[in-house]
Amino acid sequence: MVAPPVPAGVAAVLAVLRSSAVLVSPDDVVVKASTPAYELGLVRGDRLVETGLAEMVRQVRRDGLIRESELVLTGGRGSAARHVHARVAPLSSRLVLVLVEDRTRERRVEAVRRDFTVNVSHELKTPVGALTLLAEAVGEAADDPEAVHRFARRMRLEADRLGRLVQQVVELSRLQDDELLDEPVRVSVDALVAAALDRTRTDAESRSVELVGQDDTGLAVRGNAGQLEVALGNLVDNAVAYSPDGTRVAVLVRAVDDTVHLTVSDQGVGISEDELERIFERFYRVDPARARATGGTGLGLSIVKHVAASHGGEVRVWSVERTGSSFTLVLPAWCDVGPAPGAVPGAVWSAASPTAAPSAPSPTPLQEATS
Ligand code: ADP
Repeated sequence: MVAPPVPAGVAAVLAVLRSSAVLVSPDDVVVKASTPAYELGLVRGDRLVETGLAEMVRQVRRDGLIRESELVLTGGRGSAARHVHARVAPLSSRLVLVLVEDRTRERRVEAVRRDFTVNVSHELKTPVGALTLLAEAVGEAADDPEAVHRFARRMRLEADRLGRLVQQVVELSRLQDDELLDEPVRVSVDALVAAALDRTRTDAESRSVELVGQDDTGLAVRGNAGQLEVALGNLVDNAVAYSPDGTRVAVLVRAVDDTVHLTVSDQGVGISEDELERIFERFYRVDPARARATGGTGLGLSIVKHVAASHGGEVRVWSVERTGSSFTLVLPAWCDVGPAPGAVPGAVWSAASPTAAPSAPSPTPLQEATS
């Protein structure tokens, strides 16, 4: 059968849509499909792969009514299932239009948020419960000043812990809202190292942990100074917290190709191989009892990982139990050569960063279906 003609202008309109678009003829042959439709695995040869979608096309052809549905596609490139929203509508008397939007990422983000809320509520219960019990204990020990002092000290510790937890939850939610996608700026690595070390200096001194940092490298990275300071600060905090008194924590900086490596090394308790995989998970603590003593929340490293990823970098870890650990933050170096005249500000950023806001959709030409 000769394929029906595609109405004038339709191809151009479909090419600028973000959704995958497929045009199907009366004999179920794909007449045109956009590049994303092929990438999503909607079309193979000149046919729709997904039987659910093909069935929707037939129903629409029968009664001319627009249909919408959520589908799970399993036949695409790569083996992971894709969650999509499909909208099928008659385009002309003979053609049916299929528009499919990939919602996999949104669904994943929603699931992560749901888990996060549950975890936060659970984590908040511990210090709140402890404070309630301690308040009762203080009431009962009213005529024993020494006990009152002891309980008050513990209340203070629990309150600090609660404060840290709330602060880290707020930091993490802010990161998730992608606020970091402000225009990245030049961040001096020397200033970053100095700020991260300063944050921990009092703690380190009280335990005779020597802090060593390079402060004359002249290197710079691109990103958000506040977030990078939190990330590097968390690594230094951990290095000090998980090290015995009298040891050394060092921050070393190295330029490697077009990245900067910031390595925080300690001579502390180390992490076993099985645990290494899990330490970046939210609320994961290797030793909850010890974490209680150090006031750990289990959120520090997930913040580091998030900041690294959203800066287009990564975090690496090396560790041997009872020997020490090294965490390396790999970040894109600041490039002093300015953007080419007429370049869109932040364009490089969007490309390098996985969570960056998508740049304006570039028109994807509709392709003739290949048979
Ligand atoms: P926490 O607030 O408990 O420190 P993190 O997310 O920062 O949470 O770290 C997760 C776990 O990883 C910690 O509970 C700790 O057991 C382990 N860890 C992190 N950094 C180090 C380190 N430098 N040395 C040893 N163990 C570490």
